[in-house]
Amino acid sequence: MAERERFDTTVLIVGAGPAGLATALRLTQLIHQHNSEIDHGSRQGRKLSTEEICILEKGREIGSHLLSGAVMDPRALRELLPEFDSVEGPESAPIACPVARDEVYYLTERGQWKLPILPPFFHNSGNKIVSLNRLGRWLGEKVEQSGATVFAGFAGRELVYEEGRVTGVLTDDKGVDRAGNHKSNFEPGYHVRARITVLAEGSRGSLAKQLLANTPPSRIPPGRSNPQTYAVGVKELWEIPSGRIEPGTVIHSAGWPLRSDQFGGGWLYAMPEGMISVGLVSGLDYRDPRFDPHTAFQRYKTHPLIRRILEGGKLVKYGAKSIPEGGWYSLPPLSLSGTLLVGDTAGFLNSQRLKGIHLAIKSGMLAAETIYQAMAADDFSDERMSEYALRVENSWIREELWPVRNFHQAMQNGLLRGGVHVALQLLTGGRGLYARYPSRPGNEHMAKLLQEAENIQPPLVPDGKLTFSKTTDVFHSATRHEENQPSHLLIADTNICNTRCTVEYGNPCQNFCPAAVYEMVEGKQRREIHLNPSNCVHCKTCDIMDPYQIITWVPPEGGGGPSYENL
Ligand code: SF4
Repeated sequence: MAERERFDTTVLIVGAGPAGLATALRLTQLIHQHNSEIDHGSRQGRKLSTEEICILEKGREIGSHLLSGAVMDPRALRELLPEFDSVEGPESAPIACPVARDEVYYLTERGQWKLPILPPFFHNSGNKIVSLNRLGRWLGEKVEQSGATVFAGFAGRELVYEEGRVTGVLTDDKGVDRAGNHKSNFEPGYHVRARITVLAEGSRGSLAKQLLANTPPSRIPPGRSNPQTYAVGVKELWEIPSGRIEPGTVIHSAGWPLRSDQFGGGWLYAMPEGMISVGLVSGLDYRDPRFDPHTAFQRYKTHPLIRRILEGGKLVKYGAKSIPEGGWYSLPPLSLSGTLLVGDTAGFLNSQRLKGIHLAIKSGMLAAETIYQAMAADDFSDERMSEYALRVENSWIREELWPVRNFHQAMQNGLLRGGVHVALQLLTGGRGLYARYPSRPGNEHMAKLLQEAENIQPPLVPDGKLTFSKTTDVFHSATRHEENQPSHLLIADTNICNTRCTVEYGNPCQNFCPAAVYEMVEGKQRREIHLNPSNCVHCKTCDIMDPYQIITWVPPEGGGGPSYENL
């Protein structure tokens, strides 16, 4: 094994998304305030340094792996940076526009029904349409100016434990070929040793998965034992002739092209200069193994409501990501053996409002306040770090998530039955019929092929104008990986893929992956699984939805992956 250089820091944040960046930025604010109070004699003690904060980002640069719809509730950003929307010029926050109008539809294949009165959770007055990727870059600049260090192009590959406690991570090795041999440019990864490690990796974080797999059930907070459940959002950015739709218009839809027993819905957000964010969220707890979230999204664009907005425009960008939907009852322990879990990694998302950016930022701020107290007291004990969970309990995160604690579980019953439960939940402060609606991991909902023999959708042949193949879309995600490296998609037993899965599920990885990574190709005796890892847009859907749970997504060589812009 190659010798690894060790790098010591106090605070290690893995992931420079909104949660990780908010953790870093809030912590630097508190440190600057702390030091200024010492300078002015109003505080005793030692000064702290922002250089004690280190952030690892697996993307080529901050923001390159960030993607969201996105309509942002600005509440948390205003707490973090109170002047964020009043600064003019190059320093101003990258807000596309405020939401001007909400429209919600139920779609059938050819028709639509517009809701005359919007449920409160669909109201977006005061919210902002943003590109998360631009917002991330902007926050990242502020973090770098504040003195924290960001290492872009470095993935946290493995947790390091000392005496049962996480004390940092190993970063990825660079320059390893497909067979595992060192190439001429080989560089071993670093051992980043830290007193506290913040996991801000986004949805289905690979380090958080390692951590939680080693967590005894007794550490799960009482009453929060639901497994995490997910959806996948597939998105395109379009440019259309300006003047066709008012900037600030927010359209949400339920129904077609999803089946009535599926969770999810479509969106279209209009921004200035004819830019359109359009996408479809599909619950990763569907039954039909032939269901393809990317194809469903392409169908969605052919609906007359969406077609007439997009037609004549052009596809600009593409991306996909998974979204944690389980809510309050699926939150894991938030502080665990030397780590804090923030943002999507913890599962902070309001699936009824389809909003998580504000919760990610707020959870990062609360983690930062906990870490600041630990730095000031020079005490990173588990007891001290558990104050983060208390801060979450006492914050507006709980106030927002508690009334929707049973929402996604109810919707696992399908749109009609789920809608009845949700109406009851609205009347009972989120309770509904049961105190805690149970749920199962999404992959367990997948039925075998034989049980889903009906309802076959005709194939969709992309026209290259309104609808596109996965490979065309991947091209528009600017995804790039070093080709000659070990696959970052680990299949524990490919024999299962080539035999049992073919018969039982028809190899659904070919369908649920929105980037054409998985293919069944003719082998010598039978069709065999073949991977195109360089297409991977890091959405983690395969890690979540594989029916046998034999696929593990691990970070590829740092810097690989999509290069999202304006998404
Ligand atoms: Fe997503 Fe997995 Fe496909 Fe990569 S290989 S794009 S993580 S489903």
